[in-house]
Amino acid sequence: MAENPVEDPSAREVREIRINPIVPAESVLVATARSMRPKKAEELAPRDTRKHVETCPFCRGNETKTPPAILQLPAEGDWQVRLVPNLYPVLGDDREAPNFVFGLQQTIDGYGRHEVFIDHPDHGAAIHEWSEAHLGLVFRAYRDRMRALFESDPRLKYVLVFKNFGPAAGASIPHTHSQVIAMPVVPENVGAEVTNSAEYYTRHHQCIFCALIGEALTFEATIYDRASGEVRRKVNVGQYVVERGEKFIAIKPFASRYEWEVHILPLTHQSDYLAVGEADLADLARVVRRTMARLDAVIGGAQYNFFLHSAPHDGKEHGASYHWHLEICPRTSIPTGFELGSGLFVNTISPELAAERLRNVVLE
Ligand SMILES: [Zn+2]
Ligand SMILES: [Zn+2]
Ligand SMILES: [Zn+2]
Repeated sequence: MAENPVEDPSAREVREIRINPIVPAESVLVATARSMRPKKAEELAPRDTRKHVETCPFCRGNETKTPPAILQLPAEGDWQVRLVPNLYPVLGDDREAPNFVFGLQQTIDGYGRHEVFIDHPDHGAAIHEWSEAHLGLVFRAYRDRMRALFESDPRLKYVLVFKNFGPAAGASIPHTHSQVIAMPVVPENVGAEVTNSAEYYTRHHQCIFCALIGEALTFEATIYDRASGEVRRKVNVGQYVVERGEKFIAIKPFASRYEWEVHILPLTHQSDYLAVGEADLADLARVVRRTMARLDAVIGGAQYNFFLHSAPHDGKEHGASYHWHLEICPRTSIPTGFELGSGLFVNTISPELAAERLRNVVLE
């Protein structure tokens, strides 16, 4: 082993449990051995790629089929983005019912807002087919809506922006759209990231996300042989970087839950998505579009969920320790009983190989 410390990780079969550095409880079994391969989602329904659908409530010309728009961009002429209330909200703003408490079964009022961004006028347009200007418009609209919701009601602690694209990702309406849910609680996974990154900050006086970006850019892992204690491999520099812009970076997480999961983060520390400036939006749009183009080229028609994780507005200070990010999770397989039963995600492609394949896509 010692004679070959620098080994090509893509040639190696991986079977290891990787600890998520931010949320250790969310660890992942990376198992590239065939026998571990979960059911491939070959039968996943294909996504709708049509440009215009007469009966679609989100297509242009059918504006009367949705509730009146909360906002429309641009305000005059053909809209590019429309924000409407969700017809079937998971949280509503009209509940005055008291909280019921029965022993261990406790509830918090389902107070909040649930809105839908019709994020492109073309019915089946995938993000990599959008213009960067359009993507910039959408990411600006997310920011402005988050701010307006926080300002509208101090009870709102978190605004989750997410997108389900394609039936495999749970999108019930085929027209491309994203959703905004404003809620009176901090979602547990964001809470775990916030708590653990604050602990890391206390110990190391550094943001863990910034540390991970630094590692992704200049990663050098020393792995010792279990028996001999000798150095077994060192990993290449930059191997987790999928796309790098001037201000943003797309990274393949070392402990990726999903085969093609990619995270996008600002290169310079920033905790709250609300702080994204006008000058940042163009680079963010570019990095997101190029990342989606890479995913689409490798997977062939990516169906995915993405969500924005940003510092909660819960009255606590997260400015130094938390770092906002966009998690993109393409859905290429269906969770198995093992995953649901153990809570351990199984990833059958080594994140190093996945990052390399995404990086190798030649974009125009
Ligand atoms: Zn449509
Ligand atoms: Zn940071
Ligand atoms: Zn996150």
